[in-house]
Amino acid sequence: MTTIGILGGGQLGYMLALAGYPLGLHFRFLDPSPEAPVGRIANRVTADFQDQQALEKFSHGLEVATYEFENVPVAAAKFLAERVPVYPPAIALEEAQDRLREKRLFRKLGIATTEFAPVLEQSEFDDAVKRVGLPAMLKTCRMGYDGKGQWLLRTDEDVDKARPELPDVPMILEKFVPFARELSVLGVRGRDGESVFYPLIENHHRGGILRLSLAPAPRLTAKLQQMAEEAAQKVLEELGYVGVLCIEFFEGNGQLLANEMAPRVHNSGHWSIEGAVTSQFENHLRAILGMPLGATTAVGVSAMINLIGEVPESAEVLNISNAHLHLYGKEPRTGRKLGHVTLRADQTETLHRRLSELPAFFHRPDYCLEKALPEMLAKRA
Ligand code: AMP
Repeated sequence: MTTIGILGGGQLGYMLALAGYPLGLHFRFLDPSPEAPVGRIANRVTADFQDQQALEKFSHGLEVATYEFENVPVAAAKFLAERVPVYPPAIALEEAQDRLREKRLFRKLGIATTEFAPVLEQSEFDDAVKRVGLPAMLKTCRMGYDGKGQWLLRTDEDVDKARPELPDVPMILEKFVPFARELSVLGVRGRDGESVFYPLIENHHRGGILRLSLAPAPRLTAKLQQMAEEAAQKVLEELGYVGVLCIEFFEGNGQLLANEMAPRVHNSGHWSIEGAVTSQFENHLRAILGMPLGATTAVGVSAMINLIGEVPESAEVLNISNAHLHLYGKEPRTGRKLGHVTLRADQTETLHRRLSELPAFFHRPDYCLEKALPEMLAKRA
C-alpha cells in the first residue's frame, strides 16, 4: 500500500487525493483544523504542525510526504524529512515564505523583478520609499496571501499616513508595476531532474484574490512561454525541487517580472484537471513518487472561475455544456474559496461565447468577466 502524507488539509490536498485514487494511492493528512475539507475523503489527523509527537506518528508507514499549504512551519517539514522523503525540499518552503528572500533569489538567478527595498525595521521605511519611489506596494515579508498584509502607497500623503501605522514586522517595499496583465507558470520537476511546464495562464484578481484564470493565456507567444519556462527552470534547479512549482508574473511591454512563487500545486492550475492531458495534481504526485511525468499539453482552451463566499445552484452550472463543477465541502464564509468551475472549449471564440452566456451569478464584477472578455478576442500585440 502506497500512502502519501500531506501537511495541510484544504482544497489543494483534497484535489491531490482525488487525482491519486485512480493511481491506487492512499492519503493521510495533518491539519490543525477539525473542519479541514479532506476529512470527507481521507484519513485526517487533527494536530498542530508544531506537534512533534503527532508528526512522528503521522510519518509511520508513509512512502513520501508533501504539503499543500505554503505556510507549514519549515521545522515541521525538516522534522518529517528525517523520517520519510519530503518533497518539495524544505528549502523551497523557506524561500517562498519570505517575500524578501524570494525576490532576492529571483534576482540572484537573473530573473527580472520590480524594484524593491527591505523595510526590516520601521526606521528603514523612509529610506526605502526614497530608493524605490512612488507608487509602491508595502508588504509584510511573511504570512501575506490573497492580498492580506499589503498597502498601496500612491502619494506622499499615503506615506505619511502609513508611517505611524507600520506593523512591527519585517516588510518589503516594491515599486508598483503598471502591468498589462498577470500570468503564471506551473513547472513540474521529477526526482530524476526531468522538468515539464504547463502553458502560461492569464490570471484576474480582485481584492487580491484570484477570481478567473484563462489557460492557455490568450495571445500567448512562444517567446513569452520560453521566458517563463527559463525562469521556472532556474528556480527548480537551484532548489533541487521535486513536485509542482508555481511562479506568478506581471507582464508589460513583452517582458515578465516575477512577483512570487508557491512551492505547491496552485489555484491558477485548477483548469488542468479537465483542460490538460495530465492535471497539476496528478503530475505533482507522479513527481514526488519518482514516476514518469505526464504530458502538460492543454486540451483546447479553458477558463477557471473561483467560487468565493457563495456558490451558485449546482444545476445552473451543470446545465452549461462542458462546464465542470468542483465544490470543496467548506462552510460558506465571506472571502472563502468554496469551489471552482472550469469551462472548456475547442477554441477561444467558443469559450468566449460560453463565458458570455453564463448565468447572471457570474456576471457580477467580482468574477472579472466584464474585464477579461473583451481582451480575450483582442489581436496579438
Ligand atoms: P501578491 O500577494 O504579491 O500576489 O499580491 C496580490 C496582488 O496584488 C497581485 O496579484 C497584484 O494584482 C497586486 N500586486 C502585488 N504586488 C504588486 C506590485 N508590485 N505592483 C502592482 N500590483 C501588485
